Amino acid sequence: MKSLLIQGGRIIDPGRKLDEAGSLLITGGKISWVGKGKETPPKNDYDILDAKGLIVCPGFIDLHCHLRQPGFEGRETIATGTRAAARGGFTTVGCMPNTEPPLDNKDTVDYVKATAAAEGIIRVLPIGCVSRGRTGEELADMGALVKAGVIGFSDDGDPVPNSKLMRRALEYSCFCHLPIIDHCEDKALSKGGQMNEGEISAGLLLPGIPDAAEDIIVARDLALAELTGGRLHIAHVSTEGSVELIRLAKTKGVRVTAEATPHHLTITEERVKSHGTDAKVNPPLRTERDIKALIQGLNDDTIDIIATDHAPHTQAEKSQPFERAPFGISGFETALGSLMGLVHRGELELATLIAKLTIEPSKILGQKYGPGTLAIGSTADVTIFDPELEWTVNIKDFVSKGKNTPLAGDKLKGRVMATIYRGNIVYRDEAVEIKGS
Ligand SMILES: [Zn+2]
Repeated sequence: MKSLLIQGGRIIDPGRKLDEAGSLLITGGKISWVGKGKETPPKNDYDILDAKGLIVCPGFIDLHCHLRQPGFEGRETIATGTRAAARGGFTTVGCMPNTEPPLDNKDTVDYVKATAAAEGIIRVLPIGCVSRGRTGEELADMGALVKAGVIGFSDDGDPVPNSKLMRRALEYSCFCHLPIIDHCEDKALSKGGQMNEGEISAGLLLPGIPDAAEDIIVARDLALAELTGGRLHIAHVSTEGSVELIRLAKTKGVRVTAEATPHHLTITEERVKSHGTDAKVNPPLRTERDIKALIQGLNDDTIDIIATDHAPHTQAEKSQPFERAPFGISGFETALGSLMGLVHRGELELATLIAKLTIEPSKILGQKYGPGTLAIGSTADVTIFDPELEWTVNIKDFVSKGKNTPLAGDKLKGRVMATIYRGNIVYRDEAVEIKGS
């Protein structure tokens, strides 16, 4: 394979505190040379990708998505999901185990890994179930799942409802050094809920989901993490209350990490009025006040990472009446564009945003799968984006089978232009040319 020079971009690599103009050479799937300013590499048998005006950073890592295979291939497959992820700048994704059958045994994990190797175009890291069959009753064979290569455990879509079982799972995490990722929702309290509980849900006559449904389980999980010394990761934090609880737990030394999604960071429950079931997501879109708390959490590292919770559904499923339509939105392809709004509004530093999509999730993975940096010798997972390019979200352009997004019709500023996985270009915008030297 010919070497590729990514020439004349702004290289931002938060893991090495680097932000400077320069070029990168990729040879044999690895970063082989990095030069400042107008420097060029010594030999010249390489292709050139002109990155003028573009940001060059490590490939994005998303630790929370739903690729739907096996079992729900009408919604997404590993083939379509990884292509959508690549279009969003992601080179590594962690996929949730609420498939059919669920990822609670070695065979199903092996199936996902084999399918990803054969049909996927980026790195797919399976997450195993906490409980057998995701029923919340007994622990899955976590030892077998560790051997099969899962990166963590979760019953996502549902919480681990039983505190004793959660305690056991957290105890096990001390031995396997993998996080227990909980979807925090008190199901008795949220039952029947369709959106955030408040004036808007009342106006729409839709049953609400109060903040407390999340906060209660976050508080319980933090107490159990403190009790066991286990490794807890809180999925899709959506409330001000959760942020405060996690911040306090971190000051006490509890081993907790947390994620927020692009949608919870950028849009509110108002979207239910304009976008109907395309804004139906769990946890629900909340309020400006929650958004403010989440952004503050990103800035003070209470929230460690950003994860998409990409959760595609079919048009038929989402076309049902609100109360019957499933929760979940398609997130890969709009993630960067929507998050760049935070940067353009001055609410988040660009380097912080990139860190939360690269080095920080890589740290949660123990930097075992791609380093999350662009250091010489690293696997060449690289994302290249235009921070200023404006574009309109058109679901017809989505590579994902899931066309359900509350951002349909929005104008976003910031767009992924190319994604490179292990030195191969897995996504390239038509405006980006590759020239032979
Ligand atoms: Zn969830």
